[in-house]
Amino acid sequence: MAHQISNDCTNCGACVDSCPVNAINAGDSKHNIDADTCIDCGACVDTCPVSAISAA
Ligand code: SF4
Repeated sequence: MAHQISNDCTNCGACVDSCPVNAINAGDSKHNIDADTCIDCGACVDTCPVSAISAA
């Protein structure tokens, strides 16, 4: 199961560089995690200022 970014995401981009496998991409209204790329390491979770990232 990959981590997920909720609709609380403000599209700030703070999490992008925290991902060791570059699974986080900008979307139109929020950032998204590519479920096929994410290795579920959790490195991105604490980088989000609005706590929008969680384990699925
Ligand atoms: Fe990347 Fe790890 Fe977050 Fe998955 S859990 S998106 S691999 S930083």
